[in-house]
Amino acid sequence: MHSPDVTAVFDLPDEPATQALGAMLAGSLLPGLNIFLEGDLGAGKTTLARALIRALGHAGPVKSPTYALVEVYVFSSLYLYHFDFYRFESAEEFLDAGFAEYFNDASVCLVEWPDRAAGCVPAPDLRIRLRHVADGRIAELEACSERGRSCLSKIASTPADGTSCGAPVRR
Ligand code: ADP
Ligand code: MG
Repeated sequence: MHSPDVTAVFDLPDEPATQALGAMLAGSLLPGLNIFLEGDLGAGKTTLARALIRALGHAGPVKSPTYALVEVYVFSSLYLYHFDFYRFESAEEFLDAGFAEYFNDASVCLVEWPDRAAGCVPAPDLRIRLRHVADGRIAELEACSERGRSCLSKIASTPADGTSCGAPVRR
């Protein structure tokens, strides 16, 4: 029997490629998805989240949640919460802020720096690890639940747009 992939790796040679991956992700979301965005400062976590949020139809600015900790977007069919826990001094701040209730079956959560809330933030459905390679980036996507696998198989079957610039290339 065919078992769905649990990982997919994309080369992102330039910023438009990161943005295109964000748009592919937007087309593959399911309610309840909890997505961890991991990687060093400047790896492209916010760039990816911003492209995803724009692809869902948000026309206004998409601020990095670095200072506010969370930015909330309401689309007709879902709530999307974009978190950044970089500034947490302890993981318990997650509980003190009352963030646990944001993680539910009706919302999509994008979480930058989830390790700063380790042990308190719920386990992810999908982990996206971004890293620098030369002038570009590599994205490793790992499904960690059935919901994550459904999302990943949709992304993996999304055709690349065929242009040489701005296309994520699956390895
Ligand atoms: P993070 O949220 O991970 O700290 P940001 O998204 O704020 O990172 O910043 C990433 C920086 O890298 C931005 O300046 C963006 O233009 C750039 N960038 C994003 N993706 C790529 C890519 N695939 N190749 C080269 N530069 C990229
Ligand atoms: Mg960021």
